[in-house]
Amino acid sequence: MQEEELKNLREENERLKQTIATKAEMVSINVHQIRTLLSAIKWIIKMFLDGDLGKLTAEQEGLLRKAYEGNERMLGTASEMLLINKTENVVERPYVFVGVNVSDIIENSIFDFSGEAKIKSVEIIFLKPQAGLPQVRADQEKLRIVFQNLLENAVKYSNNNSKIFISAKIIENFLEVSVKDSGIGIVDGGKEKIFEKFYRGENAQKKEAVGSGIGLFTTRKIVEGHGGKIWFESVENEGTTFFFTIPIWEGK
Ligand code: ADP
Repeated sequence: MQEEELKNLREENERLKQTIATKAEMVSINVHQIRTLLSAIKWIIKMFLDGDLGKLTAEQEGLLRKAYEGNERMLGTASEMLLINKTENVVERPYVFVGVNVSDIIENSIFDFSGEAKIKSVEIIFLKPQAGLPQVRADQEKLRIVFQNLLENAVKYSNNNSKIFISAKIIENFLEVSVKDSGIGIVDGGKEKIFEKFYRGENAQKKEAVGSGIGLFTTRKIVEGHGGKIWFESVENEGTTFFFTIPIWEGK
């Protein structure tokens, strides 16, 4: 390729990156606004439902409850869109590998989902080895997304009153991490497609209306970007365990 052509391609690439970044920013601003308005609507409907503005007839209450639930779903979708936007931003940035303390990331992620887990009476247990865990060679922010996605799914697709176990063990130069739930499981038809962009299992959609099918796609991309592998074992209505490997930090 000629020098000139190469230069043009580089410039075009830069322009495209800039356009994508601007669009992501616009999505973020607009969706934030939508979410703020939906929250305002939520509180107005709630005041009616709580009887703060006088007693409602059964018919009025029924209709308002439907409006409230629809609004809640839209709020969930808006939050999901903001999260995807933010995640894509992080994933597109170049990898910066350093020595990372996995236990800290696991403990922080557990804390992030403790509210949702509590609502469902789901206990998240980190089986931390007594000797601790070695540092891994990772991009801290991206690795955090891996744990957040796996834990978010584990909580989302768990049955009430169940437990989630996170464990890790050393296998040669890698750390193998697992996240195990006792939830709805992945049905046979979906096993091939689980890491594809936008795929959502039918049983998953029934259990949780809000979702994008992007989490596992991104998770695999990040794990592979670290030189690791990701896979799962699952039995329908019994539970799922996701495993992934990440190289141990050897100081370079
Ligand atoms: P989302 O959770 O937004 O639907 P993901 O990409 O995170 O998207 O997951 C894709 C699909 O994989 C889910 O819709 C669901 O069918 C399945 N899945 C992922 N994690 C689990 C899990 N822990 N238990 C059961 N199904 C799961």
